[in-house]
Amino acid sequence: MDEEELFDEEPPYTCDPHHNCIDKFIVCQEELMGLFAICPACCERSDSSIVQQEGTFVKIKQVCASCGYHRFWQNQPMLHRNMPTCNLLLSGAIHFTGCLATQTLRMLTLFGLQCISASSFFRHQRRYTIPVIVQAE
Ligand SMILES: [Zn+2]
Repeated sequence: MDEEELFDEEPPYTCDPHHNCIDKFIVCQEELMGLFAICPACCERSDSSIVQQEGTFVKIKQVCASCGYHRFWQNQPMLHRNMPTCNLLLSGAIHFTGCLATQTLRMLTLFGLQCISASSFFRHQRRYTIPVIVQAE
């Protein structure tokens, strides 16, 4: 498999329990998109756009009109059922610290951070974080 084929594929889905321990960084959209402005294959200007955004998850497609190079990039791995890892980690962090979800999410939204909705938080709570607590008892 050559390099072009590698980048052509969708990123693999992974399930790593250590993602909670990995540092995360806040990145402004303009700075992020700047990383995809130049084609890594021929160094010409390339087009890039956000093709999917779901809570904390963002997926970018980069296409070079000059040489045909293209790739997908996403800011985090997926868990099972195509759930972005950081969406569930954010729900867990809110729940396990005892913060009020609606206030926390309102604060993050005011800051401009792309994050999960309150309904996503309560769904995560019902399906994942509460069962984890129940199992631990
Ligand atoms: Zn190119």
